[in-house]
This record gives sequence, C-alpha cells and structure tokens, in this order.
Amino acid sequence: MSTDQNEYVATLPLLLTEVEVRSAKRVSPSFVRVELGGAALGEFGVDGPVFDQRIKVIFPNSAGNLPDFTAADESWWTSWMEIPEDERGSMRTYTIRDVVGSGEDTRFVVDIVTHAHDGAHDGAHGDALDGAGNAWAQQAAVGQRLIVMAPRRGHDFGGIEWSPGQATRLLLVGDETALPAIRGVLRDLPADATGAAFVEVPVDGDVPNDVTTPNDVTVSWLPRNGAARGEALHAAVLAHLTGEAPNEALIVAEDEIDPDLWETPIYSSSGEEVAEATAVPTGEAPYAGLYAWIAGESKVVTGLRRKLVNDLGLDRKQVAFMGYWREGVSMRS
Ligand SMILES: Cc1cc2nc3c(=O)[nH]c(=O)nc-3n(C[C@H](O)[C@H](O)[C@H](O)COP(=O)(O)OP(=O)(O)OC[C@H]3O[C@@H](n4cnc5c(N)ncnc54)[C@H](O)[C@@H]3O)c2cc1C
Repeated sequence: MSTDQNEYVATLPLLLTEVEVRSAKRVSPSFVRVELGGAALGEFGVDGPVFDQRIKVIFPNSAGNLPDFTAADESWWTSWMEIPEDERGSMRTYTIRDVVGSGEDTRFVVDIVTHAHDGAHDGAHGDALDGAGNAWAQQAAVGQRLIVMAPRRGHDFGGIEWSPGQATRLLLVGDETALPAIRGVLRDLPADATGAAFVEVPVDGDVPNDVTTPNDVTVSWLPRNGAARGEALHAAVLAHLTGEAPNEALIVAEDEIDPDLWETPIYSSSGEEVAEATAVPTGEAPYAGLYAWIAGESKVVTGLRRKLVNDLGLDRKQVAFMGYWREGVSMRS
C-alpha cells in the first residue's frame, strides 16, 4: 500500500487496510494461526478490552489480487460491491484472538478453522465449496497480503457482543469457530468472574493447553471425534443448566434454522422486539443472574436457543445467540 493510500484511508472512521502475513502456522489439526501486521494497525483501538471483537478479512480473488482501496471514502462498500463477485475478493468474518506488538508493529493474531474437503476440490481461492477463508488458510505463508477491516481508535466500530452487565454467573458456549472469541472473553474477564464455558472442537488434538481463565470459571472441552455436530455441546449445556443429563437429542428441522441467526439482548435478526433495558433478570426469575453467550453453527445454536428460551424460560435479555456460520452455506458478503 502506498503512503498516499494510507493517508487517504486514514480519513475513514475504521481501519480498512492491507496487511501482511508475518507468521502462519498450523497449530492443531483444525486450526491455522496467522499474525497479520501493517503500519496502519498502530491505529487499532477499542474502548476497553478486546473480548470477542470481530473483524472482516478480504481474501484475494482467484487471480491472487486484492481490491484497490486507494480512493476509499465513505462509499467504499458500495463501490466494492459493484465489482463482479469473482473479481472483488472474498470477505469473511473472524475474531481477533490476540493483539501483539505495539505502534507500527501491532499485529492481529487470528485463528482460522480449516474445514478441508480432503482434496476433493482444487483448493483455489474462492472455491465455493472449500470456502475462500478455508482455502486461503490451507496455503497461508509469510509475506502474503490480505485486507482487514477493524476498529480505529477513537471511533465506534461495534463488533463486541460480550455484554454481561451485572450478571453474577456466566455461561459461554461455542464450537471451534467461537473458540478464538471464547478465549478472548476468558482472557479479559475480571479475576472474580464466576461461570462455565463449554467448547466443542473437531478432535482431541484441537484442545488447547494455553487458555487463561479466572479461577472460578470452568472450561469443558468437548472434542467431537466424529460424533454429530452439536450433540455433546447440547448435552453438556443442558446438564449444566438443569442438573440432569437430557434424555433425548435436540432435533432441529431445516426450516426452523435462520441462516443469519443473531439474537442478542439488543438485536434480533428475526425482527423480534428487543428490550430497551438490557439488565439481566434478578430475584425469582428462572436462571436469575445468568448471562449466556452462545455462538457456532446456526443449526446447533438454533437448537440451544429453542431449548433455553422456550423450555427453560431464560429471558431474551440474558442470552446472546449467534450463528457464526451455516453448514452448507457460504458466508459471502
Ligand atoms: C462474529 C464471527 C466471528 C468469527 N470468528 C471466527 C474465527 O475466529 N475463526 C474461524 O475460523 N471462523 C470464525 N467465524 C466463522 C467464519 O466466518 C465462517 O466459518 C466462514 O464461513 C468461513 O468462511 P469460508 O470461506 O472458510 O467458508 P464459506 O465460503 O463461508 O463456506 C463454504 C463451505 O464451508 C462450510 N464451512 C464454513 N465454515 C466451516 C467450518 N468452520 N467447519 C466446517 N464447514 C465450514 C460452509 O458450510 C460451506 O459449505 C466467525 C464468524 C462470525 C460471524
């Protein structure tokens, strides 16, 4: 990126900048970890801890090129969407697992889940079945370039959903795509936080041994090892909340699933009324004092949502349900 471009893009209230891969490493069977750096990341900043901060990443198009944001102004999104889909590169959502370095050496650490189709496809960037993010991560190497869209210090960007308010008990639930976010929340919680986290990962080898967590927050790792997606997660979360192992699996019909599922105390993708005040219920309310943050594959999250809200009576104000991805659907922007 030229100096001129950096100066121009500096006028946007967010970072929209080319970054370079400073390191790329497969850290477990299903995760590739990359460090993305660039002088503009020195301008990164959020108001408080990073928690589950999401960013957007643009991967190169099939010719290996990134869009040119040299003239980016407030209308950059509209202009970018006007470029034919196979030319503009592919945008996906990821979590900042960690921010390392400082100033112009600031780097984002991003953990990308690989979900290879075992060589059934050619793995070219943008391959619809492999997924642009997955295909890129499989070949990631130092020196490659991407574009990231992230918060600029001093400007409101959004993208942090963790919002427990005055909750006295915390529950974090997610699959492998939510592991970087859960890791970030656990890292940034106050030392006296109380609660439990349940994380489903593809296989035993994906269970990390470097997650830091407050003393009174337990973490349960649930490797699928070939079992059905969400099965172990549903069972563990319901047992945690009710004290009893569920006697049947949660079945979710295809037409029940909202592929854009995003239900937080302050936003509803299905258009449900959202509360103005987001206080977690206290007193006699079922599960008083609890705040739950649940993210992962949309069908799995839909099943948990139905159970927790409809059957167990958790108040909408105390739960965030987030479909991070949808089986069989490409999360194109
Ligand atoms: C707020 C937020 C934060 C996220 N953070 C992260 C993160 O830190 N790390 C991360 O890896 N993902 C994260 N995700 C999920 C990620 O955006 C999706 O998994 C996305 O679909 C990956 O894009 P892709 O190009 O690989 O696949 P797509 O082009 O979206 O999909 C292609 C095919 O791959 C399948 N697919 C997509 N993801 C998976 C998967 N994980 N396992 C199996 N099959 C899959 C799809 O169902 C589809 O059939 C996050 C999502 C959100 C909304």
